Parts: sequence; structure tokens; C-alpha cells
Amino acid sequence: MPKDFLKGVQDEYDVIVIGSGLAGMTSANILGRAGYSVLLLEQHYKLGGMATWFKRPGGHIFDVSLHGFPHGMIKSCRRYWSPEIAESIVPLKRIRFDNPMFSLTTTYNRDDFTRLLTDQFNVEPASVKSFFDAARGMNFYDDQAMTTGELFEKFFPGRHDVVRLLMEPIVYANGSTLEDPAITYGIVFSNFMSKGVYTFEGGTDRLIQMMEAELKSNHVDVRIKCDVEKVNLRQGRVASVTVNGRTIKTRAVVSNANLRATIFRLLGEAQLDPQFVDQAREVRLNNSSTQVYMALKPGETVEESTGDLLFSSTAADFRTDLLLSRDVTSRTYSFYYPRTRPEGRERTLLVSSTNAHYRDWSELSDDDYEASKQDLIETTLDAVEKYLPNIRERLAHVEASTPRTFRHYTQHVAGASFGTKFEGLAVSRGLPDQVKGMYHAGSVGIIMSGWLGAINYGVIVANDVDAMLMAAATSGKTSAPS
Ligand SMILES: Cc1cc2nc3c(=O)[nH]c(=O)nc-3n(C[C@H](O)[C@H](O)[C@H](O)COP(=O)(O)OP(=O)(O)OC[C@H]3O[C@@H](n4cnc5c(N)ncnc54)[C@H](O)[C@@H]3O)c2cc1C
Repeated sequence: MPKDFLKGVQDEYDVIVIGSGLAGMTSANILGRAGYSVLLLEQHYKLGGMATWFKRPGGHIFDVSLHGFPHGMIKSCRRYWSPEIAESIVPLKRIRFDNPMFSLTTTYNRDDFTRLLTDQFNVEPASVKSFFDAARGMNFYDDQAMTTGELFEKFFPGRHDVVRLLMEPIVYANGSTLEDPAITYGIVFSNFMSKGVYTFEGGTDRLIQMMEAELKSNHVDVRIKCDVEKVNLRQGRVASVTVNGRTIKTRAVVSNANLRATIFRLLGEAQLDPQFVDQAREVRLNNSSTQVYMALKPGETVEESTGDLLFSSTAADFRTDLLLSRDVTSRTYSFYYPRTRPEGRERTLLVSSTNAHYRDWSELSDDDYEASKQDLIETTLDAVEKYLPNIRERLAHVEASTPRTFRHYTQHVAGASFGTKFEGLAVSRGLPDQVKGMYHAGSVGIIMSGWLGAINYGVIVANDVDAMLMAAATSGKTSAPS
């Protein structure tokens, strides 16, 4: 008999959360803590979504998306998770750039960038200050007509080297481009510039274990291997979900699945206003990425001055199309020194990441796919030689992931690493107006993606659900939290 992953599940919950990415888990935690009955359903055998890890023989643990996030994570985790989680968030001190235009190491905050821009790039201090003030002053309700490219042209006309310094990490961090609205760049860049780049000490495995314990202490019913097929409606409002052959009733659904999958697969367009469906169809997906995971042999160490994050490129120019090209010229290396997991075995690991198009991988035959993966590994090892000589002899393990890997494990349409482009936010926020009780929380656009963006979006949506359930309780249609 196959295992019943829904064994003992209730017939009905106040809220069902579909997907255990950081946004889904955060919504579930807040609503559970508020006293609602919450069921969290995850299709994979592990919680975390993109915030995940995998183990290989020899004590090697690879983090998939733990490269860096802004200081704001500390506050969000303290408030919406636990002080213990917040206390494990530590700074990354050495962010390196190496490309044909410049090579430098920075702490990646406003003071250090001001120093670099004025001393090394010879930009007028007044222009640097005005740029930082303008970026920090941007808010969500600002005019969205100006693009990031235009913002740079306004403050640093003709300075491609400055644009590269300011833009390269953000493109890597969330797939944004020079053509995206400037506010999306300004908010994310300023978040990082306030205090630099941070990471979670102990690794993603420790974080997700702590989050799972917290969810359970807040009485969230957490189920893995539960692939939700459908959200069912009655008279235009959410009534239940169909999962693993069962129907479970609920008053509200928070979908953490990809926005497009939520609308076109879980709900179905027949349930929605045609204009809204058209708007949803126009939402562009964000790009995906490839990664090469490298574990050094036990005893092999790397000098920490090599950097925590290294943005390397061999391209003479800085262009969005080059950053996404299958002919890779840009790689972001994350170095995981033994201090990443102080409790674990002494291991040094390196992950090379490059943004990528799904279409460059999705249409390959199985043989071509394997050959392309091998080529990715070999060309990456060639590139790593510059920073870690004799890398091939020093390796205990190497493997690659591609946009197909992300698609497979998370069901993200086209393996999108950061959900959708900016216009997805309006569609995500518009969902409850279409179907009462139906919400989406997950990577949409640039502000609401990445670890911090996803957590913060989970908070916003949990508050919306709470307000709706409270209002319904006062009008006598449903029960308030117990
Ligand atoms: C390679 C890579 C590197 C990254 N690096 C960074 C970084 O350095 N810093 C940073 O801040 N961010 C980084 N990110 C982005 C960050 O990891 C994501 O933005 C964030 O984790 C996404 O969270 P989410 O809540 O949107 O959900 P996701 O992580 O996308 O999770 C969605 C969940 O829903 C589940 N699901 C989908 N459909 C169903 C269904 N029908 N039924 C049940 N479950 C379902 C999926 O299995 C998944 O667990 C990176 C991402 C990638 C891919």
C-alpha cells in the first residue's frame, strides 16, 4: 500500500497554504500563530521550495539559494519566525568583482560604495550622494515610467563601468534588467546598501528545520508529498482543495505555487473575469538559472580573501543578453567556508551560478541534455582555475543543475528562479477580488522575491487573510480563530 501522506488530516481548515516556499511557510506560521487552523501542503518531499539544500556522500551539503540577502531579514525573521532564527543571520564581509573593466573587493554597503565610486571610479561625490538618496527615496507608489537604465543615465551618463558595478549583483540577485522599472532596482539596491549582504549560519537545512519546528509549535498541520490539483469554488468563493485524491474544505487558500500555475492550473480561467485572464496571460516569467556545485576534498582549504561572493565576467561589456546567454561569460561564485556550518564537518564548497533561459535547456534530447550539462561543468571548471588553481585535482564532487532541475523540483513554470516580472504583482494582488478567499503569496517581481521579498510578501498576504476571516466572522459567515 502506498503511504497516505494525508493520514489523520482534518476534513476542514480555516486556511490551506499550497506550497512551502518561504512565502508560503511564513503565511502559514503567522496564521497558525494567530490561532487559525492551518494546513500546509507541499508537493515535494522536503519543505523550503527554492530555499533548499542537498547532501552528497562524504559529508558535503550544498545550499541551492543561500548566497546572500539584505539585513532586513533579521527584523522579518525575529518578528515573524523566532529570535533564534534571527540571531543566526550573519554578514558576508567580502564581495568581489572581477571583470575586464575592474577588479575590486567591497563590503557592499553605502559607505564603501561611496568610497569606491569617488576614489576608484572618479565620480563626483555630489552625483554619488544624489544617486543614493534618489534610490533610497523610491517607494512602491512612485512613478513607474522611468527604467533602471534611464536612472543610471541620469546620474552617471555614459559610465558603463559604473552601471556594471551598480547593476551586476542585482541582475544576478533577481534577474532584473536595465529595461525594468527603476523603482524595482532602487528598492532592492537600497535594501542591500543599508548594511551589506547577509547569510544564514548553519545552512539552509538548519533554517528550514527551525522553521518546521516553529510551524508545528503553532499547530500548523504540515504535509509533504501532497500535490494540490485543484482549488474548488462554490458561488464564487473558495470552498475546498483537491489533493492526493481527497477534498479538504477551507475558507481561504494561500497559493505559494507559481502565479501562472495558480491561475491557469489550480483555479482555471473559466472561474475568472476574461479581462483578468488576459492580464494574467501578459505576465512575463522571470528567467531561470544554471548552477555548478563543487565540493573540495576534506583537508582542501581556500584562503578567505578569495571572497564570499565573487561576481566574475569575461565579457568586455555589460549587457543583459550576455548575462543570460548559453555561451556563459558571467558567473557568480558563492564560497562556503567551514564556518558556514560551524557544527558540521570541515568542508569547503563552491557554487557557480549563471542566469539562464529555460528554452536553451527544455528542448534538448536526453543525450544532448546530458552532454550540455557536462559541457557546463567542464567550462565552469576551466573558469574556476583562475581563482582556485588545479581545481580538478582538488575536487571530491561536482554536479550541475539547470532550468529543468528547478522546474522538476518546484513545478515553477519554465523553472523561473524568481517567479514573474514586476507586472505579476498586480495580478497576484488582484486575485482575492476575483475569487473570495483566494490569495497568492510568492515571488512576483523584484521587490517580492528573493528570501526577504518572499518572507515579506508572505506576511502581507497573511494579514490580508486574517482581515478577511475576521470580517467574515463579525458578519457571522465563518468562525474567528479559536
Ligand atoms: C539558484 C537560485 C539562487 C538564488 N539565490 C538567492 C539568493 O542568494 N538570495 C535570495 O534572497 N534569493 C535567492 N534566490 C531566490 C529565492 O530562493 C526565492 O525567491 C524564494 O526562495 C522563493 O520563495 P517563494 O515563497 O516564492 O516560493 P518557492 O521557493 O518558489 O516555493 C514554492 C513551493 O510551492 C510548491 N508547490 C508548487 N506547486 C504546488 C502544488 N500544486 N501543490 C503543493 N505544492 C506546490 C513547490 O514545490 C515549492 O516548494 C535564488 C533562487 C535560485 C533558484
